[in-house]
Amino acid sequence: TFLPLSLQTKMSRPVQARRLEGTDKNIWVEFVKLAATYSTVNLGQGFPDFPPPDFLKEAFVRALSGENHMLNQYTRAFGHPPLVKILAQFFEKLLGRELDPMTNVMVTVGAYQALFCCFQAFVDEGDEVIIIEPFFDCYEPMVKMAGGTPVFVPLRLKDPEDGKLMSSAAWQLDPTELASKFSERTKAIVLNSPNNPLGKVFSRAELELIAKLCVKHDVLCISDEVYEWLVYDGKEHVRIASLQGMWDRTVIIGSAGKTFSVTGWKVGWTVGPNHLLQHLRTVHQNSVYHCATAAQEAVAQGFQRELELYGTPESYFVQLPKELQQKRDWLVQSLDAVGMKPIIPEGTYFLVADISKFKSDVPDVPDSDEPYDSRFAKWMMKNKGLAAIPLSAFYCGAHKNNYNNFVRFCFAKEEATLKAANDILQKWKWENTRP
Ligand code: PMP
Repeated sequence: TFLPLSLQTKMSRPVQARRLEGTDKNIWVEFVKLAATYSTVNLGQGFPDFPPPDFLKEAFVRALSGENHMLNQYTRAFGHPPLVKILAQFFEKLLGRELDPMTNVMVTVGAYQALFCCFQAFVDEGDEVIIIEPFFDCYEPMVKMAGGTPVFVPLRLKDPEDGKLMSSAAWQLDPTELASKFSERTKAIVLNSPNNPLGKVFSRAELELIAKLCVKHDVLCISDEVYEWLVYDGKEHVRIASLQGMWDRTVIIGSAGKTFSVTGWKVGWTVGPNHLLQHLRTVHQNSVYHCATAAQEAVAQGFQRELELYGTPESYFVQLPKELQQKRDWLVQSLDAVGMKPIIPEGTYFLVADISKFKSDVPDVPDSDEPYDSRFAKWMMKNKGLAAIPLSAFYCGAHKNNYNNFVRFCFAKEEATLKAANDILQKWKWENTRP
């Protein structure tokens, strides 16, 4: 049935839809491949290398091998009923308002699909979407694919106090600059607190400022809260949806990947008012339609357990941040000891560290198209076997050189992995200071 070669004609028309223009590069595709090839210690991509909690793994096994074989078949398109029910119950507690599991919650294929649904559902050609820099990189191409225009507003780093390590709280929005980005074209703002890559946890005052502007300009808030449980030093995660005037205009996005250390399961959710979620359901039913039933069943059981143990020392949402805070402190110490100044994160499982002191190892190339931190991260992977992600990956094209002396490390790693990273750093420092 194959045509003879002489009759075959190649396609000559452009095949790529215009909406994909400028969205073909992806930092993770590039760095994940490099890390797999070169790194011996991978503190790059954000995933735990320790096992998820037993109660969750057991719940998945039960879902697969238990009596209810229907857990291997399709479930409700907008979320497996036990999962949306328990999420509604859980968020009722967190938000202090009544929720309907069927209309105020929708399950997605990870937080990623939740974000995609939001941009497709709310953003039209010509709409502007405010994105706070540095940002989880997919926000920009997702806005563009929907036909919108991303408008960037930076967190600016305060000057360091002599000799002291800084906190991620030192990254701050300039209120006047933020206000200047809102106009009648603004459809939405994306908020990510706790923030990837900085680990910044937005304070109540900062969120109130954002909320006021949203209300004033009648703007939606897409609130990416996937790290909601990973908050340290007694800091409070404030939900912007609970601030005055915000419930009606906010979609909360969460992820079992971060919540239960199962990034590969790709179970996420959205919580919000029906008049917003109704449009997410339209996108969902016309694209993904349905998420893996057994994984949803297991996550539902995980939440059931967490609701019963809420706030107690046995709760995973209490234990995980406690363990991660310890890991954070180890990595902070390792980096500080070699002069790679870490900015101590208040949340998430990431931190950024200043690499300025190591510049003699990887000299600047004036006029290079590639930001310095990106060349540094690649050099570090290839020459030291240590993988991290350049901070410039979290800025838009025009701003990639604003902060290019930082790399992001993930510390959701086994003690042995963090120790191996420490060994690499110590050896590196020793080699550099050897007479
Ligand atoms: N938002 C942020 C801020 C993230 O860091 C991530 C994962 N790295 C996601 C969304 C996507 O989450 P998921 O794996 O659940 O799709």
